[in-house]
Amino acid sequence: MGELAPYAADPQRSLGRSNRESSDKNRTEYQRDRDRIIHSAAFRRLEYKTQVFVNHEGDLFRTRLTHSIEVAQIARSIARALSLNEDLVEAICLAHDLGHTPFGHSGQDELNYCMRDSGGFEHNLQSLRVVDFLEQRYGSFDGLNLCYETREGILKHCAPRNARKLGPIGERFLEGYQPSLEAQIANLADEIAYNNHDVDDGLRSGLIDVNQLQSVTIFERFYRSVRDLYPDLAGRQIIYETIRRIINALVVDVINETRKNIKLLDPGSIEDVRAGKPLVSFSAEVKQEQQELKLFLHRFLYKHKNVVVMATKSKQIIRNLFEIFLENPDKLPRDYRERSHGDLKRGISDYIAGMTDRFAIKEHQRLC
Ligand code: MG
Repeated sequence: MGELAPYAADPQRSLGRSNRESSDKNRTEYQRDRDRIIHSAAFRRLEYKTQVFVNHEGDLFRTRLTHSIEVAQIARSIARALSLNEDLVEAICLAHDLGHTPFGHSGQDELNYCMRDSGGFEHNLQSLRVVDFLEQRYGSFDGLNLCYETREGILKHCAPRNARKLGPIGERFLEGYQPSLEAQIANLADEIAYNNHDVDDGLRSGLIDVNQLQSVTIFERFYRSVRDLYPDLAGRQIIYETIRRIINALVVDVINETRKNIKLLDPGSIEDVRAGKPLVSFSAEVKQEQQELKLFLHRFLYKHKNVVVMATKSKQIIRNLFEIFLENPDKLPRDYRERSHGDLKRGISDYIAGMTDRFAIKEHQRLC
């Protein structure tokens, strides 16, 4: 990592950890956060959690783990180009999906429904809950005791009613502060990663095809330039050549646009970043193209009947598991019962949210 910009997150000026710890001679505070995340059980579970396609549908589809690694790769490129803190960006990206349920968004929607009278379920909030509380690896505290800046980045969204319960980390959602530039980058890198890998996975699955995708401006533009460059190329190589160009174009666009914004608003410190407008963004033109691609994926992939059939099955599994544990609390592992401090539904929700796809399916078979 080269020299950091004055408005980058500086580990020596971190707002710190909830529990005081002595510093480490060889690693910065954000490196330690990243290392703690990689060694957590929740991180290993990401390998068997759905992104769009359920884990057993094919070995080459993205899982939450490979998604998180792709997000970190994209975000680090952007952070390095802007002289921001790569370690912090990496820590945030690797942790950003730790709170996801099995079966992707359908799992989260169903768990939120099951928890409707008990505070609901939201994956961002759950990611924070994992690192603040549910990971139990240290003798002196619950959770991973991460730095404020890492936690700030993990909590990407938060409804005001939840933000009020969170103390300092929730304040920005009530008072309209921005998070660090590193957190802003992680957020956009997430979008770049999933839009592109969902195109790739969607094509691989056969649920969408290249002809359909040519109605999408950004895809069509790069697909055409690859065809012009390699007239004889066929099959997946054309797709890979197209997608890598799209990712690169998006990364370059974010870097250029963000540089412009920084120059214009001229923040002198991370405090200026927090008090100002969001600075990390796509250009207006690219933002519109991204919107077009998202709409396409929504309509033709996420709402494809095969994906919807799987989502419906997944929701049933989550609902059944929730009801079984609610009627038979003794079937819930003891530490989840104890950790929930009398809030049985929250304990069940924590247990189910932590399950991998295949574990949820197995538990469902065993208990039903
Ligand atoms: Mg993500």
